[in-house]
Amino acid sequence: MIIRTRFAPSPTGSLHIGGARTAIFNWLFTRHNDGKFILRIEDTDRARSTEESIEEILDALSWLGLDWDEGPYRQSERIPIYERHVQKLLNEGKAYKCYCTPEQIEAKRKEAQKQGKIYRYEGTCRNLKSEPEGAPYAIRIMTPDEGQIEVEDKTRGKITFDAKEIDDFVIQKTDGFPTYNFAVVVDDAEMEITHIIRGDDHLANSPKQVLIYQALSYEIPQIAHVSTILGSDKSKLSKRHGATSVVAYRESGYLPEALINYLARLGWSYGDQELFSKEELIDKFTLENVGKSPAIFNPEKLLWLNGWYIRNKPASEIAELVIPLIKNKGFQVELDSKLIKIVENLRERVKTLSDIVNSADYFFTDEIKYDDKAKNRFLTSESLPIFEKLIQKLSKPDEFTVEGLQVIFQEIIDESGLKLVNIAQPTRVALTGGTVSPGIFEVMEILGKDTVTKRINNAIYYIKSNN
Ligand code: GLU
Repeated sequence: MIIRTRFAPSPTGSLHIGGARTAIFNWLFTRHNDGKFILRIEDTDRARSTEESIEEILDALSWLGLDWDEGPYRQSERIPIYERHVQKLLNEGKAYKCYCTPEQIEAKRKEAQKQGKIYRYEGTCRNLKSEPEGAPYAIRIMTPDEGQIEVEDKTRGKITFDAKEIDDFVIQKTDGFPTYNFAVVVDDAEMEITHIIRGDDHLANSPKQVLIYQALSYEIPQIAHVSTILGSDKSKLSKRHGATSVVAYRESGYLPEALINYLARLGWSYGDQELFSKEELIDKFTLENVGKSPAIFNPEKLLWLNGWYIRNKPASEIAELVIPLIKNKGFQVELDSKLIKIVENLRERVKTLSDIVNSADYFFTDEIKYDDKAKNRFLTSESLPIFEKLIQKLSKPDEFTVEGLQVIFQEIIDESGLKLVNIAQPTRVALTGGTVSPGIFEVMEILGKDTVTKRINNAIYYIKSNN
């Protein structure tokens, strides 16, 4: 048997962390089993589905590296297929036309609500003697009035629902479009899906779907519901807990590797192991290790993983990724050994790509803005002799490398009796505008002799004109 899975997003918004996790589980399970991963856009909610959302979802999946083998199918392009199935059920007397108007249904729903009951369609149109000519209708499936409906769930075991709980629900709306439950079942059957892995917010739909499978005489695929992702306060993950869309993470400088690694571990585990490459995840992922209990989203851990990937990916790849971010800030930059060195030096202390970009304007522009505190403390007449000495020594044709610079600084220490920090901090302010940067020798080497000389001279000028 070839394993066939699907990811079936409704394009009514961005791809969220929860949806991405569902996609990741399906993808890993499929790749682990050499199966086929199918992408299906569930756009039958015509009012809420948008093209932008479809594009954003596809983009986010591609960015995460979750490639699909078939699709994207679109439910809106498959209407005749659903109609054919509805017709089959009508012909077999397993479904019927319902002429009740939305107003009538709404009134009954309100009435039930008043009595503290949940409204269930009472089957008014089940056995109509005559059908109103030309009136709009929906189509409902006939469901059993009693008995049990069993859902065999791979992560939770057998779950039983009381048939009384389920009314004759609509399978085709008045506009001719199928309802969600109907389209899902027809598609999963037609696309020969063998395993359905999805969020447990769909658990309540499962008995309805089981009834549709049975009515259509289709085999029910294996179903695994994975637990909802919760925020740290144990409530459903939402905007309140920070960014929830995949795109927002991409834009804030997260790497797809980090998101995949983090989300794969939300609800699935392999001992205590935290770090997994994609290949390793594919190798180790099984449904047996998917847990039942809700997974808590921990942004700190994701951030930590992101920092780990930033430090451990080849620096040239990180450099390539930060180029657009740097250009966005209006700076010129290209992929060269200077940029790679900048990345190598900055990435030790950052957690996102944006951190790299936001902490290092001084590498990309000569317009150094002195931080107020830093300049008051370090760009003073006391620093003047240090800077002058530095300029004098830098003019020698020594090699402008970390080692060469160390020698120069040592000479200044020996001649002035100052400590390294007393020389390094004013220099740092002169070169970067602030008091925090990678090692001063590394910064100098990257900036190069001309820039360093120019900036030290600027600092001298600043001190002379402000003191
Ligand atoms: N389209 C549904 C959603 O976006 C998923 C349906 C399913 O997985 O069965 O939530």
